[in-house]
Amino acid sequence: MYRISKQFHFSCSHIIEGLPDTHKCSRLHGHNYIAEIILDSETLDQYGFIVDYHDLRPFKEMIDNELDHRHLNDVLPSATSAEAIAEWLFKRARQIWPQLAKIRISETPGTWAEYSE
Ligand SMILES: [Zn+2]
Repeated sequence: MYRISKQFHFSCSHIIEGLPDTHKCSRLHGHNYIAEIILDSETLDQYGFIVDYHDLRPFKEMIDNELDHRHLNDVLPSATSAEAIAEWLFKRARQIWPQLAKIRISETPGTWAEYSE
């Protein structure tokens, strides 16, 4: 099995709805996120790639156009956790790359959440 990944950076604000007022994530705040796209394949193309990294540009455009410098509560359908962002991006990216294995979202240097099917 071959695996590749590429990371993309973006910044957003959000409020985690429903948390107690004492929880800091219930207040308006932001993160400098890292989204990592991970693709798996048993085979390679004629150039030896799963997918040419340059051909991941639509993923960057998806992030730049729909997420970057936006308020996530206005963009995502319900939850705005890292887990929910990962699922939202996965369902979109899966329509482009059948080799998609998972999306990983990092809010801080020490944490990540990922979504796969
Ligand atoms: Zn947060």
